[in-house]
This record gives sequence, structure tokens and C-alpha cells, in this order.
Amino acid sequence: MQSTRSLYLAVATLVVAMLVGIYVDLESDAMHARHVEVNTGLERMLRLNQDLTNMVVLAVLEQNTLRTASYDTVDAALVATIQKLGQLTRQQTLSEEITALSADRDKLHVTEEAALRLMRMDLWQEAHQLMFAESYVLAKKIYEINSETAVVALTGELAKTVEYFDRIRLAALAMRIAALLLLLWVGAMFSRRLRSELAEQARLREAIAASNQTLEVKVLQRTAELEAANQRLATLSATDALTGLANRRSFDQAWEAEWQRASRQGLPLAIAMVDVDQFKPYNDHYGHQAGDVCLKLVAQTLGGTAQRSGELVARYGGEEFVVVLPGLAGAEAAAAMERIRATVQGLGVPHAKATVANVVTVSIGVAACVPQLGHSSAALVEAADAAMYRAKAQGRNRVVLAQ
Ligand code: GH3
Ligand code: MG
Ligand code: MG
Repeated sequence: MQSTRSLYLAVATLVVAMLVGIYVDLESDAMHARHVEVNTGLERMLRLNQDLTNMVVLAVLEQNTLRTASYDTVDAALVATIQKLGQLTRQQTLSEEITALSADRDKLHVTEEAALRLMRMDLWQEAHQLMFAESYVLAKKIYEINSETAVVALTGELAKTVEYFDRIRLAALAMRIAALLLLLWVGAMFSRRLRSELAEQARLREAIAASNQTLEVKVLQRTAELEAANQRLATLSATDALTGLANRRSFDQAWEAEWQRASRQGLPLAIAMVDVDQFKPYNDHYGHQAGDVCLKLVAQTLGGTAQRSGELVARYGGEEFVVVLPGLAGAEAAAAMERIRATVQGLGVPHAKATVANVVTVSIGVAACVPQLGHSSAALVEAADAAMYRAKAQGRNRVVLAQ
């Protein structure tokens, strides 16, 4: 900002200096011309004055007829010259002196007129007396002295003015040089500032790029962390905390997908509901924690059998589990579940309060069909549930296939 202001200042100074310089140059030239003109005028005045004096003296000395015509011409020239000088020196301090000189000249002229009149009347003695009695010669002398003084003073004044203008011209030149130097200095400052600003910008850009890169790496890391966390959350939300099997929500989704797939492919689909027999008495007798351990054991056994692809074992709720058996018809599914039932019994988990066996057993209801598009998937689950209740009713620890 400051350098911009300095630049404007320098330019303004330069412009002013240039204008002043041009003005001074023009004025100075005009002054010189006027000087020459005034000098010429003064020289002419002196010459004419000399002529006039010579003529008057000649007339007086010779006491002869005056050459009036010639006298008038010279006098008119003298008047014109004095007037011209007056105009030329109007602005000079000597103009008053010139006016006084002019007045002197007029007085002398009157005296001369009177003397001439006497001379024309052949009264030479009177004319001579008038001229000398009225101090004509003395006045002439004074007039001449004044003329010379005026010329010298005027010349001196003009010389002084010229000198003064020369000084101003020099000052204007110095001002122009100073303005140019100032402009150069400001320009240098400006370019230095510009360069440092550009360097600063480049540095800033680099810093931003570096921090962007860091940020990108951080974002990538964070995204990976979030993805992992999401994965963990998804697993957690799909898993049953106690048994580690798929939970009910997860089953609902998978079951619907299996149903759709089987309907598209026209393949059979079976489902089995597994319920621990007389589990309430087990809990009551062995305690809830022992009940949990028992549920985990049953879950492990069920999970271990779900080896084929697409087969899903989930905790349906409480001590009930569900097994999805894609591609199996009713009889095959019942056979597979029979093996599971036997395995659970084979675990030999003691159950002192059981009326069926003295170990923990399960009752299983199986239902199977070839799903049709548009048919409800829930109906098959209900059928398996109903078959499971039939297994309970028939004495527990058995597999019942829904018809
Ligand atoms: P049935 O042979 O007719 O199925 O008899 P049951 O006693 O198993 O039937 P019921 O449904 O009345 O009892 C189920 C019991 O399972 C009740 C509940 O205390 C127990 N239970 C459900 N969930 C859990 C659990 O997460 N841990 C434990 N320890 N017990 C559970
Ligand atoms: Mg139950
Ligand atoms: Mg039960």
C-alpha cells in the first residue's frame, strides 16, 4: 500500500516538475527575446537622442534655419521608442523611471518649441537666452544622464531577471532529475516488494499443498478406521452376544434373501426350529449362569453343523434356534436335523430335572417347500414352529416334519 502511494507521489512530482520545466523554458525564452528587444530599443533611443542633441546644438551654434521636417521625424521616432520601451518594461521596476524620463523629455520639448518659435522670428538672442536662462543645457544634460542611467539600470535589471530565470530553470531541472530518481527508487522498491510477495505466495502454496497431502493421508486413515469400525458394528449388530451366532435381525434378512433366491432358481428350501427341552427347570435347578453356558454349548453344536454354503444357524430368541437349509427337501432336512438332535443329546449335559432324559435335549420342527414367487416366507417359519410344538407334544427330544 505504502509503495503504491509512493509511486503515485513520484509520478505526481514528475508531472509537476515537467510542467514547471516546460513553463520555465517558455518563459525564459520569451525573457531572452524581450531582453534583446529592450536592448535594441535602448540603443536606438540613445542614438536618436544623440541625433536630436546634435541637431539642436547645430541649430543653436549656426543660428541658421532649422531643418524642421528632419527634426520632427527624429522627435517622432524618439517618442515612439520611449513608448515602446515603456510597454516593454511595464512589468519592470524601472517603468516609473521611464515615465519620469518621458516627462523630462516633454518639458524640454516645450522649451525647444518656444526657442524655435523665437528662432523663426529671427529673435536668436532671445532664443539663446530662453534656452540657457531656463537651464536648457542643464536639463539636456540631466536628461542624457538619466537616459544613460536608465539604460544601465534597465540592462542590469534585465540581466538579473535572466539570471533569476536561469536559476529557476536549473531548479526545475534538478526537480525533474529528483522526480526521475524517486520514480526509479519506487519502481525498485515496488519490484522488490512484488518479488517477495510472489515468493511468499509460492511458499504459502507449498505449505497448503503439504498440509493438504497430510490431510488427505489423515482422511484416508480415518476413512479406513471408520470402515473397520463400521464393519465391527455391522458384525456386532448382526451377532448374538451370548452365543456368537447370527441374531434374529440378521436371520430375518438372510431368510428373505434365501426365499427370493430359491423362488428364482426353483429350488427347495427347508427351515428347522430348535427349542431346548425343559430349559426353565434347568435354569431353576442349575442357575441362570449355568443356563447360559448350556445355551452356548447347544449353539456351538448347531453352528458346527452348518457347514454347507448358504446354511445359516441363528438364535431365534430365548432358548430357541433356527437352522436354514437351502436346497434340501423335507425328508433330507429332517434327516440332517435328526443328526443334530442326536449330537446335542450326545453332548451329555446333565439335566437332573428333565423328564425325557437325564441330559439336555432339543425338540425340532422342520418345514420345507419349493418357494413360489409372491408366496409368504413367514408361513414356512410358522409351519416349522408348529411342527416343533408337535414334537414337544409328542414327548420332546425328537424331529417332526411339517406336512
Ligand atoms: P419346553 O420343553 O416346553 O420348551 O419347556 P421350557 O421350560 O424350555 O419352556 P419355556 O419357554 O417356558 O422356558 C424357556 C426358558 O428359557 C425360560 C427362560 O428363563 C429361559 N431362558 C430364555 N433365554 C435365556 C437366556 O438367555 N439364558 C438363560 N440362562 N435362560 C434363558
Ligand atoms: Mg421356548
Ligand atoms: Mg424350551
